Amino acid sequence: MTIERVIKKFQDNNPQADTTLIQLAYDFAEKAHSGQVRRSGEPYIQHPLHTAYVLAEMKSDLPTVVAGILHDVPEDTSVTIDDIKKNFGEEISTLIKGITKLGKIKYRGVERYRENLRKMFIAMADDLRIIYIKFADRLHNLRTLDALPQPKQERVAKETLEIYAPIAGLLGVWRLKWQMEDICFKYLYPDDFKKLEYKYEVEKQAERNQFFQKTKKELEQELDRQHISKYQIEYRFKHLYSIWLKMQQKDRKFDEIYDVFALRVLVPDVSDCYKVLGIIHTIWKPKINRFKDYIAMPKPNGYRSLHTTVFGPEGKAVEFQIRTPEMNEESMYGIAAHWHYKHSRGQKNYSDEEDQPQWVKEILEIKKNYKDAHKFVQEIKSANIFQKRIFIFSPKGDVIELPEQSTPIDFAYAIHTDIGNKTTGVVINDKIGTLDQELHNGDLVEIITDKSRSGPSSNWLKFVKTKHAKEMIRKNAQNPIFDRIKGYFSRE
Ligand code: MN
Repeated sequence: MTIERVIKKFQDNNPQADTTLIQLAYDFAEKAHSGQVRRSGEPYIQHPLHTAYVLAEMKSDLPTVVAGILHDVPEDTSVTIDDIKKNFGEEISTLIKGITKLGKIKYRGVERYRENLRKMFIAMADDLRIIYIKFADRLHNLRTLDALPQPKQERVAKETLEIYAPIAGLLGVWRLKWQMEDICFKYLYPDDFKKLEYKYEVEKQAERNQFFQKTKKELEQELDRQHISKYQIEYRFKHLYSIWLKMQQKDRKFDEIYDVFALRVLVPDVSDCYKVLGIIHTIWKPKINRFKDYIAMPKPNGYRSLHTTVFGPEGKAVEFQIRTPEMNEESMYGIAAHWHYKHSRGQKNYSDEEDQPQWVKEILEIKKNYKDAHKFVQEIKSANIFQKRIFIFSPKGDVIELPEQSTPIDFAYAIHTDIGNKTTGVVINDKIGTLDQELHNGDLVEIITDKSRSGPSSNWLKFVKTKHAKEMIRKNAQNPIFDRIKGYFSRE
């Protein structure tokens, strides 16, 4: 990788931009890292260059690309954050500070996982660009994982699957998410990876393309005959990890995963969707039980589309997804709807019934209106999405979103009513706390319960912040008169 390529990539998306600062950052980093080599034997500067290139590919803004070049300077050399601030200004030095903070945590196992997740959320609240730089940094580290000893490879791959990939999905950075996942898959399940990769090779790329063209042509002819003129047909091939995941979850063989490749038909409105479905079913015989109407009955996360699998040309199973461009846009951010902060020991519990957290909704709303990454990030910042909310962590690694100034009781009820009702004490960041104390973003909160406790105290109503906690306390608090009567009888 060269700085010229990074600059060229950046200029592709910003033809007018002055790129002097990128060149200056390169000269600065090159000097700072001089003499350092990576485990692969390459000069160290290659790593920040690749990181910056990925950022330029993602259409990042200038400060982000510059920070990408400089991101390891304060960590690995004698140059300090202050030096960077003097040379490159406040904005860039703040970004780098954020990245350095993210990298500091060196815990093991669940502990490490939880801490990392916590750091990610806090950094996200500071400036989303920090997370993007971290993604690019991680992607290049994954691509050069071969140079590391095996236990470290596994640790990095696991951490990426558990933390980085889901957050990338949440933010709609699909390309990075997929790339990261497939590399991790290769290191964590090498045998499965090789088998799947081979399956792909069996059906050669050219052959697949030919098949797609053939199917597309047959459909186009029929659509034209039926006077449907506005449509777009896309060819979609899933990445290996997602196929493998599906095989695991549904206990299926590769050949039974029908949507390994699929054709997507986009038409202007809903009635066209059903028309196209009818046309597809007249050309090819549909496969039983493979038709799903997610337009009439959207998935709980809001996903809408028609799905059907038919015996296409040569009798091969082909999946079709039929939707409007609007539905297609929405589906890009689908994973955010699955993101419920519930992680325990790296296992994600996605439950469809739960609502999206408010801030995810707001991010998606903004994302819809801002296609340009720079404006999107700016808007997220100015919308203060994270300002009025705090993220509180349980010892198991669950993340609960609460309004500012919430207390341990709010947290307890947010986890579960039974826990709220039985709360007797709290440990906040490994120190004993009080039940009415104000929690802060990133706090690690452990609720202490007593099974014999009969219910909440109505005194709690004086300090709880969330509506949910208030309602639950009112509902479950002991009735004082009833208590007295009970006390009277028990004296007998
Ligand atoms: Mn790095």
